[in-house]
Amino acid sequence: MPYKDGNAARAAVRASYWKHHQKNLAQKRRSRHDKMDFVREIVGRTCVDCGEARLAAIQYHHPDGRGRATNRTLYLLSWRAIQEEVMKLIAVCGTCHLIRHAAGQATQTVAERSGGS
Ligand SMILES: [Zn+2]
Repeated sequence: MPYKDGNAARAAVRASYWKHHQKNLAQKRRSRHDKMDFVREIVGRTCVDCGEARLAAIQYHHPDGRGRATNRTLYLLSWRAIQEEVMKLIAVCGTCHLIRHAAGQATQTVAERSGGS
C-alpha cells in the first residue's frame, strides 16, 4: 500500500524489517549449515594429507589456486555456485593447507577423483 508520507513509508519498512528479523536470521543460519553439510559430504571431512578429522581444523583448498570463494565466503554462494565449486576443492587441515600453498603443490579435486574433467 502506497504511503503519501515518506516518513510513514520508511517507518513501515523499518517495522517490517524488525518484525521478520529473527526469522530471517534463523533462515540464513539454517541455509549456511545446510551448505556446510553439503560441502563436507561431497569434498570430505578429513584432511587428505594427514587424516586430521576434527571439523574445526578442516579447510577447503583450490588446487588450481583460483576459486570463486574463500573458506569464509564459500557458504555465501548460491546453491548452484556451490555445486560447481565443490568439484574443484579438496579437504585439508589448516596446517596442511599452509604447507600446500607454500609448496605450490598440485592436488586431486573431487572432479579428478571421480574421473571427471
Ligand atoms: Zn592435514
